[in-house]
Amino acid sequence: MTDDRERTMRFLYALRSKGVTDARVLAAMERIDRGAFVKGLFAERAYDDMPLPIACGQTISQPSVVGLMSQALEVGPRDKVLEVGTGSGYQAAVLSELARRVYTIDRYRRLVREAEEVFRALDLTNITAVTGDGSFGLPEQAPFDRIIVTAAAEDPPGPLLAQLRVGGIMVLPVGQSGAVQTLIRVTRTENGFDYHELRPVRFVPLVGGLGQE
Ligand code: SAM
Repeated sequence: MTDDRERTMRFLYALRSKGVTDARVLAAMERIDRGAFVKGLFAERAYDDMPLPIACGQTISQPSVVGLMSQALEVGPRDKVLEVGTGSGYQAAVLSELARRVYTIDRYRRLVREAEEVFRALDLTNITAVTGDGSFGLPEQAPFDRIIVTAAAEDPPGPLLAQLRVGGIMVLPVGQSGAVQTLIRVTRTENGFDYHELRPVRFVPLVGGLGQE
């Protein structure tokens, strides 16, 4: 076995052992090279199951959390997905393998620009990256079939709930920043919203307004 293949097998094994079992999600994570999204000092840790620092004081999420969130989102091939918190672009890239179209938004212009460069290099043509405050969603593209938030808010932001279509699913961490938060899945029904707790997680906070960089 080549070193690359062995590394991929180890990566997939770690995902499975943390509960990522959905075949489409595993195939997407096999195709999208996390190494393309981690730069500099930490590049050699790209295949470890840990969050890593990226520019602007932010983080690329732990691969098993990316897998578990993608799995909980139950994305279908015809779905239009919104991700709040582009960061490195890795989660959006994984989702782009599962969905028809992905919109991803981050408050740092620099992160959006760098993620776009990687999307271009990997020829991921169904992702649109936008700079903005994602707490307000992306009203001009709503409604969304699926919404994923990769930064923690105390409660699900109202505009995101409003931009989820009936039957749609949103997955997001809720809770105080700096504390253990809870990953939840919200399903929009004809009459309101169903809330389901998934697991404890730790994410950087959802912050209002645009970043400096
Ligand atoms: N999904 C990312 C990835 O795959 O690398 C990891 C996201 S990182 C944990 C959280 C991101 O949320 C940061 O890049 C941060 O700038 C962004 N963020 C925080 N508050 C935001 C807001 N109000 N609107 C948009 N992005 C926000």
